Amino acid sequence: MVVNQLDFSIKNSKNILLVSHINPDGDTLGSMCGLHSLILDNYKKQCDMTAVSQIPNVYKFLPYIDKVKHISDIDSSREYDLVINLDVAAPDRCVEAQVLFNKAKETINIDHHKTNPNYAKLNIVDPQASATSEVLVGIAQKLDWKISQKSAICLYVGILTDTGSFKFSNTTSRTLEYAGKLLDAGVCASDIYQKCYETNSKDMVLFQSFCINKAEFTNNDKIAYTIVYKKDLEKFNNNGEDFTDGLTEKLRAIATTEIAFVVKELNAGTSKVSMRSRTKDIAQICTALGGGGHTLAAGALIKATPQKAVKMILNEINNKNLC
Ligand code: 5GP
Ligand code: MN
Repeated sequence: MVVNQLDFSIKNSKNILLVSHINPDGDTLGSMCGLHSLILDNYKKQCDMTAVSQIPNVYKFLPYIDKVKHISDIDSSREYDLVINLDVAAPDRCVEAQVLFNKAKETINIDHHKTNPNYAKLNIVDPQASATSEVLVGIAQKLDWKISQKSAICLYVGILTDTGSFKFSNTTSRTLEYAGKLLDAGVCASDIYQKCYETNSKDMVLFQSFCINKAEFTNNDKIAYTIVYKKDLEKFNNNGEDFTDGLTEKLRAIATTEIAFVVKELNAGTSKVSMRSRTKDIAQICTALGGGGHTLAAGALIKATPQKAVKMILNEINNKNLC
């Protein structure tokens, strides 16, 4: 069984690195810190953890988050016995950490994206799971690992955020059963909800209304999108908080919307698209654009200015006759 191979690899590795994906969300950080905590409690081993981009302020309350090193603070010539990627749908999603991954003696890929190409030596990828953190609760159960309150908080954050607070279609009875186990292990649901969703700054809320106000609607309002420019983020004093968190879902919440997306301007000529739907398989759109994700929540990095990226995305949707 694959979980026994995971157990074997952890037992036989001295130096372990846990890796999260670019532009980290609650699931990649929750599952990384959660696995760190589980390994500490159950194997008495410390793991290194790395992030390749800034950690959003909202997740700074996660247990062990202060131990996460930026990739630039890890010697790139280091050879780890074991590297475990968490919620990393494709190898390029961990950017500079790929060097360490490629050099490691053992590699494990724990994930739940259906587009994951099983790129590690050992792959534990379950597209039925709502979150990578849900995959980890299953692993913990199979291997009879103790789940401490700290581990439970991390894993609960992963599940809570990837299910949009248990309301997306990826929420199953198993998701709720596992969330229940985490509550039994000491998680306070209202406390974690408030920490994840009710600590937005005034600037962020005003920024999101600005973005919604200038949203564009095409294909009889079936497609809704907005562009986030760097200069606007600066105007609204963006400071490390993820100002676009939940923005695409707000456009999807309009009754007429079939596909919603947000295009964010990154550095010179690069844009990031975040796409959502209630009914259409948009993973195929984002995969065609070089990204990937889930059926109803996907994304891609596009080497184009935001306006060009919008054209490419609309072409892709129209060519596939999706709306
Ligand atoms: P988000 O829109 O929240 O950034 O991402 C939605 C989902 O699509 C997430 O599960 C995320 O991991 C995945 N995703 C986002 N961007 C990319 C990308 O560039 N490549 C791949 N393979 N998946 C992505
Ligand atoms: Mn996830």
